Amino acid sequence: MDAILVLNAGSSSLKFQVFGFDGSGGLQRQVKGQIDGVGTSPRLLAIGPDKKPLVDQAYSPGDVPDLPAATNVAGTWLRKTQGFKLTAVGHRVVHGGPDYAEPIQVDEDVLRNLERYVPLAPLHQPNNLAPIRALFERRPELPQVACFDTAFHRGHSALADHYAIPERFYAEGVRRYGFHGLSYEYVSGRLREIAPNIASGRVIIAHLGSGASMCALSEGRSVESTLGFTALDGLPMGTRCGQIDPGVILYLITEKGMTAAQVQDLLYRECGLKGLSGISNDVRDLLKSDDAYAAFALDYFVYRIGLYAGTLAAALGGLDAFVFTAGIGENSAEIRARIVEKLGWLGAELDQAANTAGELVISSEASRIALFAVPTDEELMIARLTLELIGADKKDGLGESTRISAERSP
Ligand code: AMP
Repeated sequence: MDAILVLNAGSSSLKFQVFGFDGSGGLQRQVKGQIDGVGTSPRLLAIGPDKKPLVDQAYSPGDVPDLPAATNVAGTWLRKTQGFKLTAVGHRVVHGGPDYAEPIQVDEDVLRNLERYVPLAPLHQPNNLAPIRALFERRPELPQVACFDTAFHRGHSALADHYAIPERFYAEGVRRYGFHGLSYEYVSGRLREIAPNIASGRVIIAHLGSGASMCALSEGRSVESTLGFTALDGLPMGTRCGQIDPGVILYLITEKGMTAAQVQDLLYRECGLKGLSGISNDVRDLLKSDDAYAAFALDYFVYRIGLYAGTLAAALGGLDAFVFTAGIGENSAEIRARIVEKLGWLGAELDQAANTAGELVISSEASRIALFAVPTDEELMIARLTLELIGADKKDGLGESTRISAERSP
């Protein structure tokens, strides 16, 4: 079967999915797998389309010391046991910098460009690029497509894209990029199917997972995001701080003597729900806990989402719909209900039964804005974008660059 392999590389894990396709444009998920514990206690796990386990195998750290090795292990297992004919590989790449507003087929030049954005996403970008490099060496004939978390937001106005710092920093790439774009693109596409009239209006999508952000969409296009230059801004997340006065960073460095690396570790790994509760970064644990700090962490999360709903509604000049997605947004009826309470002033009213049942539409008849809980699927989005680009390339004779101008100043 012809297939697209989708790779999503994190700091110590490699998630992979295989989608078969048959020429009719449909994609069917065939394999969903991951290698966790890369370099420490590697383990390959995968399930098939019926969710039945296909493999559960542990490796020694020396056999899978890094992401290139993990890519080889996943590739070898797929080749030996699954018999797909890979047409292309789609990669999640967190940062497309100012240049990439669309997915792009990666060649050596593109890869070098993407390596330039490592300082903009030091924890993610090197990991995203490592499997691309590894596959270039092992399977040079295989088309590889980079799909960016930033791309969906590249149409932002200069106002939304700037910080109020001297323009030279903007010119070198210090911009409000926004992330989770693959999720927003998928969910806004689903909203077009579910409620086309509403999807063409003023919509906020809240991607609430271990990483969390909110996006304001007008006529299906992103116009504002709670995330900016890095994936630290905006909402508090599992372990990331969210919006913080830059003066706090200065205080940590000048008064507490912390190094840049220590501040980075603090802001990315020790803050958010974990930092506030002192218990866990997982909303499920916090909901179960009787601890006052667990309750406070959840109150804070809900409060900040409410505040940003106001900000994004202001950017849109009103609101027609609010959509929940990702781990917390899709699965926690309680957190959804608490957030909708904060949206009461916008006229939001929940259908309690629909919310508890986990239905797609969760607003009551009387609600002045439509409320939805829509599962996201970033990997399917990557597979679609990859197939589209490879298909389009075949038709158009390849080579048309999808780069846009680096300039977006007023
Ligand atoms: P994601 O990053 O989208 O996979 O989301 C992961 C997060 O979703 C976890 O850290 C949990 O906090 C949250 N989550 C998953 N399932 C539930 C649930 N049933 N109730 C509350 N939170 C959940």
